Amino acid sequence: MARYGLVGRNIDYSFSRGFFNAKFKREGRADQYENFDLSSIEQLDDFLANQSDLKGFNVTIPYKEAIIPFLNELSSTAQEIGAVNTVVIKKDSALIGHNTDHLGFSKSLLNWGLPDHKKAMVLGTGGAAKAVNFALRELGFEILQVSRNAGSSKMSRAQSDPPQQILTYKELTPEIMAQHLLIVNCTPLGTFPNVDQAPDVSFSAIGPQHALYDLIYNPEFSLFLTRGKQSGARVKNGLEMLEIQAIEAWDLWQKDL
Ligand code: NAP
Repeated sequence: MARYGLVGRNIDYSFSRGFFNAKFKREGRADQYENFDLSSIEQLDDFLANQSDLKGFNVTIPYKEAIIPFLNELSSTAQEIGAVNTVVIKKDSALIGHNTDHLGFSKSLLNWGLPDHKKAMVLGTGGAAKAVNFALRELGFEILQVSRNAGSSKMSRAQSDPPQQILTYKELTPEIMAQHLLIVNCTPLGTFPNVDQAPDVSFSAIGPQHALYDLIYNPEFSLFLTRGKQSGARVKNGLEMLEIQAIEAWDLWQKDL
């Protein structure tokens, strides 16, 4: 029996525990996946000291970036992205940080069908946006980042060389909206229970030529996707990304057993 889990704060809602325990049941495994709710990431070392049978864990809000100083090593991709969502615990207890969010995003985008155009707009600049930016770059997209605050990119060193400009929502003209036909919501706006919120983009500038991808999966159709759909855009939620990043995390834990 092996144990896995999710490190985050206020994670009762979490998808991962249900996903993995259902997988273990289906496959007749005695493994367990638990939620590890830490009120501060400084508690990680003490927590892990009592978890000798833990093989690995996922990391979620708000620790995807804050956990990095607590790890022994980072995969080159996690290093470049600057965020970790999966940790492998080696036999010698070394903690190796990985990022599988970018694979979840890129594989689900490929499954959805890549648009012909190669200009994407990414809303938000947090850990999820960093993984999405990495994936979009790998797929050859030119990226415009949108934030509540103007300034240079907060993306990782390698990605922001030269530094990219970030536009604020107010700076998005109809022309800019028309040039960026893939729009990815990487903000938490619209997540249950705050379902009446959406990023502050002009939906009147969105049309059938647009593809809107929301990392949010609860509700199935966020207000961002609902309004996009009403404007004729193709829409996709974050459920498939979530499933793929979980499977990729599982594969990493199995490789390192
Ligand atoms: P985060 O760091 O808390 O927030 C991301 C960014 O959203 C922030 O950096 C901020 O960017 C913007 N933002 C936050 N609050 C906002 C507000 N009230 N109004 C406008 N913008 C706001 O979260 P994250 O870890 O990057 O995750 C973002 C979302 O993606 C969450 O809903 C998460 O559940 C989801 N997610 C889904 C998957 C999946 O597999 N489907 C994977 C990872 C994350 P600025 O300060 O630049 O505006």
